[in-house]
Amino acid sequence: MQIANISQGKIPFNMRYQIMLARRDHNFQTFSVAAIIAFTISLLYVLQKLYAPGETPESWMTGAYIALFGSLGIVSVIFFLAYHWMHERVTLRFETIFVMVYAFLVVGISTVVTVIDMVYTREYTGMFVGLISTSVILSAPLIAYSALSSFSLILFSLGYFLVFPGQGIEVYLPGFVNAAVSVAIGIIIQNGRTNNEVLKIHLQDLNRELREYSFRDPLTGSRNRRFLMEYLEQQRLLELRHEVGLSLIIFDIDHFKKVNDSLGHPVGDMVLKDLANVSQGCLRDSDMLARYGGEEFIAVLAKTRMEDAYAVADRMRVGVEYHSFAGVPWKITASYGVAELRKNESIESLISRADIALYWSKKEGRNRVTRSGEHHPDVEGPEE
Ligand code: GH3
Ligand code: MG
Ligand code: MG
Repeated sequence: MQIANISQGKIPFNMRYQIMLARRDHNFQTFSVAAIIAFTISLLYVLQKLYAPGETPESWMTGAYIALFGSLGIVSVIFFLAYHWMHERVTLRFETIFVMVYAFLVVGISTVVTVIDMVYTREYTGMFVGLISTSVILSAPLIAYSALSSFSLILFSLGYFLVFPGQGIEVYLPGFVNAAVSVAIGIIIQNGRTNNEVLKIHLQDLNRELREYSFRDPLTGSRNRRFLMEYLEQQRLLELRHEVGLSLIIFDIDHFKKVNDSLGHPVGDMVLKDLANVSQGCLRDSDMLARYGGEEFIAVLAKTRMEDAYAVADRMRVGVEYHSFAGVPWKITASYGVAELRKNESIESLISRADIALYWSKKEGRNRVTRSGEHHPDVEGPEE
């Protein structure tokens, strides 16, 4: 994992889209946070005008601040509503552009406040607060922070030039410092966010992988018993509602002990793998094959009635019979039991009925398929 070293521009290519999504999720809150900040500042100026009017050189300036921040608050609310409306209705790119338009607006307004300040004082607070808070609350790439800072600087210079033509470089210097600090802060905060996101994505991937492993049999790659039981329960509930048929095929290799005993366990393992492949090949994508026990497998056929399941089981049986298993000099066969879920029947009962049918397949000579309820009454066997 390359978590430690992720920085701007070094996001792994396959994660870029996910990072963009994460940025969008983050920026989803930007407008509400900005609206609260803008209204708070506006309110502070109202309080100042009411209780400490002597603090500003001219009272029209306080009025201008109240109007500017108040309208920024209102604009933020409008953007908030628009953004929530467009969320997942428009492309990600369009949402990004929308957020950036807003960011430019905020930086523009706070820079204009600073230019107004310049009429009487050397105050850079508006520009500073605007740039810093934008880089703190906005999740964006380096280029966006740089563009915002440059925009603010140009606006500030133009405004200042109009108000005080012919001034020296020293008045611009704090503006440059503001812009540079804001870009630096933006990068530092964004790097932290990106590292978190990358870590989160890695963990999610890992989690998915682990989940996948925990539901597969490592030898054959088929689903394991745990998955099978969860899946069956799910399918049972669906079947209760839709009544389109849910069938189950259980099968077991014939005389498998002989393979292990005379050819060795590794050959036995290969046979199991092969068997899973051959059987899977006889199933549809919507069917599910799981290793139920040592050399017993279960196929679950959703939306399938008994007779169709019987046909599938027989196809598997023939497929196995005519498959040549690597390293085994004799024919490998398997026996099958088929059952269809009855109304209000439990999964345990369904498996048990299929298992009894399998027992009869073995009893009657192996390499055959038996439907549940189809056994010979004159041969001893478990009750169904
Ligand atoms: P039958 O026709 O009655 O099914 O006879 P069988 O010899 O196949 O008997 P049974 O089904 O009871 O045999 C199970 C054997 O499967 C015993 C066990 O050694 C073997 N087995 C179970 N799991 C594995 C496995 O993961 N690898 C290998 N190689 N053998 C396994
Ligand atoms: Mg067995
Ligand atoms: Mg067996």
